[in-house]
Formats: sequence, structure tokens, C-alpha cells
Amino acid sequence: MKVSMLDLKGQYLPLRSEIRRSIDEICDAQSFTLGPTVEKFEKNLAAYCRTKYAVGVGSGTDALLCALMALGIAPGDEVICPSFTFFATAGVVSRLGAVPVFVDIEPDTFNLDPKKITAKITLKTKAIIPVHLFGQMADMRAINEIACHHNLKVIEDAAQAIGAKQHGKPACSEGFAGCLSFYPTKNLGAFGDAGAICTNDEAFYERCQLLRVHGSGHRNTYYHQFVGGMFRLDALQAAVLDVKLKYLDGWHEARRRNAAIYDEMLEGTAVKRPGMLEGNWSIYNQYVVRVQNRDQVKQKLADAGIGSGIYYPVPLHLQECFAPLGYREGDLPESERACREVLALPVYPELEEAQVRFVAQTLRASV
Ligand SMILES: *Cc1c(COP(=O)(O)O)cnc(C)c1O
Repeated sequence: MKVSMLDLKGQYLPLRSEIRRSIDEICDAQSFTLGPTVEKFEKNLAAYCRTKYAVGVGSGTDALLCALMALGIAPGDEVICPSFTFFATAGVVSRLGAVPVFVDIEPDTFNLDPKKITAKITLKTKAIIPVHLFGQMADMRAINEIACHHNLKVIEDAAQAIGAKQHGKPACSEGFAGCLSFYPTKNLGAFGDAGAICTNDEAFYERCQLLRVHGSGHRNTYYHQFVGGMFRLDALQAAVLDVKLKYLDGWHEARRRNAAIYDEMLEGTAVKRPGMLEGNWSIYNQYVVRVQNRDQVKQKLADAGIGSGIYYPVPLHLQECFAPLGYREGDLPESERACREVLALPVYPELEEAQVRFVAQTLRASV
């Protein structure tokens, strides 16, 4: 039995004619950036995330960069973030001349450990970026409490967590703002790159809207209030995303069904299953286990026709580009251990139950 890590065709085929119709409308209108299709999607997206506003941008990376620019993050500022995450989380901090300050993770959930944040706060700290890794939210109550006490802004990196909930509250609605990615492998995937910023703060929202078009008002195109970026969302992507958004909750449920099968079949084995923070409802962008001899286990799965992934092989504090920050091996032991042990299993919604059971059985026999 062959089981690939991800197969987007199974999701596309049932929606093919609906998506093509909405793409056709953009082609007929020949209106390609921002405009009514983007506005409609932003409105639906904000409602989905239960925030007042959403700003469509070109990618999840642009969402994070634009949000930090809108906060006024400047050279010399410090921003707290995890090291066990996708590069963009910290890359955007450095691009603004600010310093990413890496905090270790909580080993069961792979998310920022709130107990380790306060020790890293200095007079230069301006913001915290918790990442809701693999689809479950970081401990927002604890993080917001620390942020409030030290007057820091919280920007949620919700790139992997659209629709995830904590005590019933969705990702992006708990921080000052939340950033989403619609990269094709995310639970809501565009036909290319796209992203969004969600917030309840009106002034911040307006600033993001200006920053995404080089700091100029959309109507006063050649008058620039700030130096921004080119972060616009394409109408074609918004059209695709607006169709798909209607089906997103069903896809989350299917991923959760697959995860529940793994949870049940891997119980009591040498495979360590992902832990859930109390009150969390995960959308399982990834189902990530820990195993010893990870690379051998991955090879055994591949030999049986099963795809798997390693997110992430190297923690950000040990990346070559961050060497000037002076971190050493051993500084963030849980992030480093996670990089050695994690293995992501296929969990996408269209998997057959028999495929999921086959993966679990093969994995059990491989450890
Ligand atoms: C995917 C991702 C991003 C970046 O999104 P892009 O759309 O690829 O730019 C940022 N942070 C995390 C945690 C991600 O998984």
C-alpha cells in the first residue's frame, strides 16, 4: 500500500468546477490585485477567526513581516520566539534589524514554554511571537499574562493553526494580532503563496493595509506615509481561498479522525504521541511523533511505501545565519532533542482509514 505524505489532488478534484468558475470570474474581470474578491475573502476570514479585521497579504512570511513593521519593530529591539519552528518566525525579526531571542519549547506540545520566557525579557524586548506549531495553540493565557505584565505585544504565528482553538477561542483572536499562511501544505492552501494578518485593533489594521502597498493609501497611490513593502494578496488566490474556506472545518474534522486513529494505535508503544495542552483543539496540520533512531524508522517507512517528514531538522538558534547571535549547542536542549526525534506522519483529510492503520502498524513494527 502506498501512502504519500500529502496529496493535494484528492482535495482539488471534488471542488474542481467550483474553483475554476471563481478563477474564470477573475480572468473575465482582468482585475488581479486586491479589489472586491480580496475584500470578500478578508471579511469571511475575519469572521472565521473571530477577529474584527483581516488583511490579505502575499504569504505567511509577509504577514509576519508586515505585522512587525506595523508594530514599529526597529533595529536593536528584541523579539522573543521559539527556535523549533519554520525559519520565517525569526527571519522576519532579523530582516528588520531586530534580534530574535530564542526560548525553549515544552517537550509534549512542541510549543513555547511560558515558564522560560520571563528570564529572557530585557529592557529591549518589544514583542513575543508564539508559534502554534503543527496545529495546536501555544499556552496563550500564560503568554498573554507575561506580555501584559511587561507591556509586550503578542503576535501569534498561526501559519499552521487556522481554526485551532484554546478553551473555545480560535487562533489569531487571542493575541494582539495573528498571522496566517495559505501555502499549499497548510490546512487552508492557496494555489501558490498567500497569507493574512488578523486583528481586533483598528489602528494596527489600518497601518497594515498601508504597509502592504509601500505605505501609500490604495487611492492615493503615489503619496507615501511610511516605507512599507509590496505585500498585496492576488485576487486569484483570494478567489480560490474563499471557495475552500467553506470546506475547511470538514477537512479539520477528517484530520482529527486520522489523528485519533494514530493516538489509539500507537498507545503503549515505543512511539511517543503528541501531547495536547488542556483546553486545546488541534487542527493537526501535522501529526508529529517522537522516535529513537528516527532516521532508520523513516527509512523503514519509506521502504514500505510510506512518506513522512522531518519538521524541523535544525533548530533556528543553531542555523548558520544566526551564528553571530552566539548560541551554542546545549543552549535550548528541548528544541535540539525535538530536532533529533520528530517524525511527521501523513494526516491529510483524504486518507483512507486503511491507509492510516497501515502507517500506524508499519511504524509500530519499525521502532
Ligand atoms: C508556513 C509557515 C510560515 C510562513 O508561511 P509562508 O506562507 O510559507 O511564507 C511561518 N511560520 C510557520 C510556523 C509556518 O509553518
